Amino acid sequence: MKSITRGTFHIILLCSLALISIKEAGAADNALIHQQIQQKTAAIYSELVAVRNDLHQHPELSGEEQRTANKIAASLTALGLNVIRDIGGHSVIGVLDSGKPGKSVAWRADIDAIPTAEGVGHNCGHDVHTTIALGMAEVLYSLKSQLTGKLIFVFQPAEETYTGARAMLDEGFLTAVKPDEFYAAHISPMPAGLVASKSGYLYADYRQVNLVFNNVVKPKATIALAKQSIASLQSVAKESPFWNTANLMDPTIGLGHPNTIYQDYVVVENRFNVEQANGVLTVSGYVSASSEALMQTVNKRLRQKIANSEFAASFVEVNNQATQLTYSLQRGNINNAAHFTEQSLQSMAKVYGGSVLKLYGVIPDGRGDDFAYFQQHIPGTYFLLGGSDFSKGIVSMPHAPNFAVDQRVIEFGVNYFSSLLVERLHTH
Ligand SMILES: [Zn+2]
Ligand SMILES: [Zn+2]
Repeated sequence: MKSITRGTFHIILLCSLALISIKEAGAADNALIHQQIQQKTAAIYSELVAVRNDLHQHPELSGEEQRTANKIAASLTALGLNVIRDIGGHSVIGVLDSGKPGKSVAWRADIDAIPTAEGVGHNCGHDVHTTIALGMAEVLYSLKSQLTGKLIFVFQPAEETYTGARAMLDEGFLTAVKPDEFYAAHISPMPAGLVASKSGYLYADYRQVNLVFNNVVKPKATIALAKQSIASLQSVAKESPFWNTANLMDPTIGLGHPNTIYQDYVVVENRFNVEQANGVLTVSGYVSASSEALMQTVNKRLRQKIANSEFAASFVEVNNQATQLTYSLQRGNINNAAHFTEQSLQSMAKVYGGSVLKLYGVIPDGRGDDFAYFQQHIPGTYFLLGGSDFSKGIVSMPHAPNFAVDQRVIEFGVNYFSSLLVERLHTH
């Protein structure tokens, strides 16, 4: 998870609202294989905890994941998977081919660590993601005779720098493997055992908007208008409960309620950059929008503001040097395919019931994951997997200095997502 601004998820236990209503038809399908998944996961749990502890003790920064990749490749090779390495950095891909015709369904784990006060640490939980994916590969390999098609386990480097997924795509990922669907998960501060997602944006799209003025006659007034224009994009009132991050998990207005206040918003950070050089003035602001459609209105609204301003004529000299609008921080944003996301939440709820939560709100704090670039080519879903145990003071807030994970999340994750992949292979 890449986090640009720092938000705080406050902790309120999620109540049982918005739990997925289970369609009765087909509820017994694959029941035996889901039972086998849970038995196998329980049998290898302590082995997986040891794998996680080893990765945890040897964190490697983005682009330097050599040891981690070696461990992953050795583990997948020992299982019997076909292993492809080093596409776009220290990536590892393990292919579990059932030998029978069918879909190809992929799962991604990110593997890099982050800089910390002590040096380098797994304070984003990617060691847990890696362990869960290795566990899934082992569990599902043991059930190979019951599978169809292919499962593809993708271990992606350099997520934290938002470069790894694109590098893999640029260097032939889609030629090496062609998944029909692609899924991933990230540890989140929710209680351990909960898994959640939504269709469309999960995080607000976050951009740096730059207004560039040429040949400025009145710089002070220009700066004031630019700031005011960007600030005016904000759609959330000052006194709104939106600003209290405790409300993200509120049962009636939080992310999990259909009438959540965390939808249909544009938010502007209260900070601007102003640069002046060689007669060119640039005023930058930081804008988040909860949907693609709303972000698309930003450009038009800013242009209108400037064009309609009483100072407009003095801002821009008529010399074909018009005011420009650019985006310098424009990145892929997690965008879950609606159909696949609905089906995935349903199929996990069918097996794991109340652990599965459907979200309606879009998280506003500037987070993102470069899995977004894979989603631009392959449909699927990015999930949040709760890792906290508040009773023990374990809070899985990514990038927090005291980031910690309840180890049981390894078992939850292997179970939920192994079941998910089986259901996806069997869904046509
Ligand atoms: Zn992360
Ligand atoms: Zn992170």
